[in-house]
Amino acid sequence: MTDERSTILVVEDDAATRSFLADNLTADGYDVLTAETARDALRMLERKYPDVAIVDLGLPDADGLALIQRVRRADGVATRLNPDVPLLVLSGRAGELDRVRGFERGADDYLVKPFGYGELLLRVKALLRRTARRPRGGRLRVGDLEIDPLSREVLLRGRRIELSQKEFALLRALASDPTRVFTKEELLRTVWGFRSLGSTRTLDSHACRLRHKLARDGDRFVLNVWGVGYRLVDGLVVDGAPLEAAAC
Ligand code: CA
Repeated sequence: MTDERSTILVVEDDAATRSFLADNLTADGYDVLTAETARDALRMLERKYPDVAIVDLGLPDADGLALIQRVRRADGVATRLNPDVPLLVLSGRAGELDRVRGFERGADDYLVKPFGYGELLLRVKALLRRTARRPRGGRLRVGDLEIDPLSREVLLRGRRIELSQKEFALLRALASDPTRVFTKEELLRTVWGFRSLGSTRTLDSHACRLRHKLARDGDRFVLNVWGVGYRLVDGLVVDGAPLEAAAC
């Protein structure tokens, strides 16, 4: 049932529930990680990339809802959190409002304690099936370019391209909405997180290096939209494309 052993993170401060879940999920063939606090959970999510997390809401250091919100708001660049990791809330809070809140913050499913293990397992399997159909970890594809936000790997026709951290962040930003023109101001804010006069030069030099690296096979992915900003295209060199390559 579980090909290549899915990893499940159990975030639960109650020792009995935690070991019950860990024992049973392990017996059912999953790799299990456990965390007792929201802080440990974040660390696990950043370093181990579980396929699903089961999240208790009453945690000693933070509310599980805040944890969920933090994951969902992650951009996958500044942190190594995968914002798309499936999250199943397992909580004693049974009210309709609690459940609505859970879903609003980004939970994929919500199971109320006391729970039956059989039902929990079915729901976990359903979440795993859903992710199996999605590209892993939100991989982005633009033409023959493949971008993995988690491993920060960039492949062009299957061959790796080495990028600096900022070059990667810039590519990731542009690839989030290919063909859209991003203004320089927008890119500075996203990639550098500040606005300052003169730093557009920094942006231009990074964009220029990124373009050269992606042009290994003669493609043109990064287009300079003169006076406005940059955009990403699928790399095919089109006759009559604007002659902006000399600008950098
Ligand atoms: Ca608890």
